[in-house]
Amino acid sequence: MRYDVIIIGGGASGLSCALTLASAKGRGWDWAENRKYLVLDTGRSDMNRALFNNVPGVPIGTLGKDMLGILKDQIQHYGGVDFLEEKVVKVEGEKGNFKVYTEKGNIFESEFVVLASGFHRFEIECEGVEVVENPKSPKPGRVMVRHDGDYKVKDGLYVAGLLAGVSSMFAAAAGSGVQVAINILSEWAGKPIVIHDVPEES
Ligand SMILES: Cc1cc2nc3c(=O)[nH]c(=O)nc-3n(C[C@H](O)[C@H](O)[C@H](O)COP(=O)(O)OP(=O)(O)OC[C@H]3O[C@@H](n4cnc5c(N)ncnc54)[C@H](O)[C@@H]3O)c2cc1C
Repeated sequence: MRYDVIIIGGGASGLSCALTLASAKGRGWDWAENRKYLVLDTGRSDMNRALFNNVPGVPIGTLGKDMLGILKDQIQHYGGVDFLEEKVVKVEGEKGNFKVYTEKGNIFESEFVVLASGFHRFEIECEGVEVVENPKSPKPGRVMVRHDGDYKVKDGLYVAGLLAGVSSMFAAAAGSGVQVAINILSEWAGKPIVIHDVPEES
């Protein structure tokens, strides 16, 4: 099965990336129409253990696991995103022609790949990826993937969330996922874009 973007990891950063990508369609941009996105996830987001009292704009007392459901509902509002519970073991190829292999033996193809699998470990075989100690983690042994400062690892391959070296705060992880989505959409558009909605005039 072929997708435009495959996101590996369905936590704060991966879902925020998927939401922003999905929200680009229906706005009169040819390059955003008929895109297909895939989120591959093993269901172990740190959000499952979190209670959010300090996430900007989110009601105090929101459970992280409820927020995962809210984000998925938001994505489904736009559509165009498939979700599969599968562990990714290998990524190979280059921009326009990536192959993503899962533990179940499935192979998915895509133009772009986003690594958003958190900072606990990185066990995905992936050429051109340099994994180093995560300097923003308060605990030792956490990892990050080196990138160019704007989340690009190499052409077509981006990294988001704690794996990109942002602090372990929901808004920081989600923000990096949004930025990666905007970077990909801007590549398709051939110019910097943003996606804004405004209220209808009464
Ligand atoms: C106990 C706790 C409390 C917290 N409280 C707060 C708080 O109060 N305020 C706040 O702002 N932040 C809080 N956080 C931090 C917040 O939850 C994280 O910063 C955020 O979840 C990180 O997002 P992420 O996308 O980088 O990683 P995650 O959300 O961890 O998502 C990574 C996803 O990748 C998946 N994955 C990993 N490997 C693979 C693979 N090979 N194939 C497919 N999928 C894979 C995992 O299953 C997981 O779903 C808390 C975290 C914890 C643990």
